Amino acid sequence: MNNVKVVFFNIPAYGHTNPTLQVVSELVSRGHDVRYYSYDMMKKSIEMAGAQFVSCDQCDFQSQLSKDEITRVGKDIVLSTNVLVNTTLALDGMIFADMKEYHPDCIVSDSMALWGKLIALKLNIPYICSTTTFAFNQYSSKMLKYTFKEMISLMFSTRKANKILKKLVDKGYPIDNILSIISNDNHTDTIVYTSKMFQPYSDTFSDKYEFVGPLIRKLDYQVERSKQKTIYISLGTVNNQFLSFYNHCIEAFENTNYDVIISIGNYLNIEDLKPFSNHIKVERFVNQMEVLQCCDVFITHCGMNSVNEALYYGVPLVLFPQTPEQNVVAKRVEELEAGIYLKNNSVIEIKNAVEKILNQSKYQTNAICISQDFHQCLGAKQAAD
Ligand code: UDP
Repeated sequence: MNNVKVVFFNIPAYGHTNPTLQVVSELVSRGHDVRYYSYDMMKKSIEMAGAQFVSCDQCDFQSQLSKDEITRVGKDIVLSTNVLVNTTLALDGMIFADMKEYHPDCIVSDSMALWGKLIALKLNIPYICSTTTFAFNQYSSKMLKYTFKEMISLMFSTRKANKILKKLVDKGYPIDNILSIISNDNHTDTIVYTSKMFQPYSDTFSDKYEFVGPLIRKLDYQVERSKQKTIYISLGTVNNQFLSFYNHCIEAFENTNYDVIISIGNYLNIEDLKPFSNHIKVERFVNQMEVLQCCDVFITHCGMNSVNEALYYGVPLVLFPQTPEQNVVAKRVEELEAGIYLKNNSVIEIKNAVEKILNQSKYQTNAICISQDFHQCLGAKQAAD
């Protein structure tokens, strides 16, 4: 194939960016030009993958949100629409001029970096959706299971969101309503970074969907396992400010002989946690690939990347989802019996779930089964094709 020009757009989030980096490298190794619009926190890894990085930091509305608002992004449709509209309007001038000058053959945009999709629609450039969560259509979205109260609130917020979107319509963006912008449809080429087996209701998606499997950052070295059972705990990089949860984990494992690794993220202070002994290590960020290679149970918020990565290494999970999407991931793992859902975050519940996973081999056996399926996926090559 001739040299093509591909433009990526993404949000400032590791979980949404990391899987795309191997696709970038694959495209570059095939001789194509890749330009990547993202945020300075991702600059180094995007450039290392071989793309030309373009900073959108001057339009980073997410980092201007308060702590409380950050926890609501993705859950609060009005807040998310405001971020989308403000970002799209702030980037409009630069991107419009750039795209006119660069003439990309296609735009690959993360399902949450909707300004990429919108500019593709506005300029009639072929668009590919990059989905680091499960793909959601009318069947899989039923698993989001909103309560009646949430449905009513969603209905009102959707109306408000549609009003906010009007600002974009006035700027020439062809938008019907918020749902048509955020949902996956069967006509759009879509890359999904998990396997067809793991995606719920995968048979209901058209052949425009490529389930390429998790594109994880593989290590080229082996990590030594501890003699003790190792428990890893993380709530990811976004909604992770849950002090009482980490304290309950410390209490659950303080008097055990497990090795415990807790990643608390950048928002909390380690000094604010309960005192803990040497067999418990608390970090703000760990090399999750290293940790997963040598851990026996992962207590996770069920971010899609964390779950993909853990199952890739055959690690069974304790499931503690924080958002409706994470809840779907948790339900799917529970359905495949590769993990246990936490009913609440009490000390006893956390301890019992971990003990159950360590004592009943089916959880690990099922996690290994999914791992084998993931290893058969065609990955970045399929996404680049
Ligand atoms: N991650 C990591 N070290 C940490 C915490 C997270 O490397 O201490 C990585 C993790 O491997 C995953 C990403 O950050 O690739 C988190 O993505 P996920 O979708 O699980 O959750 P999010 O942070 O988007 O809620």
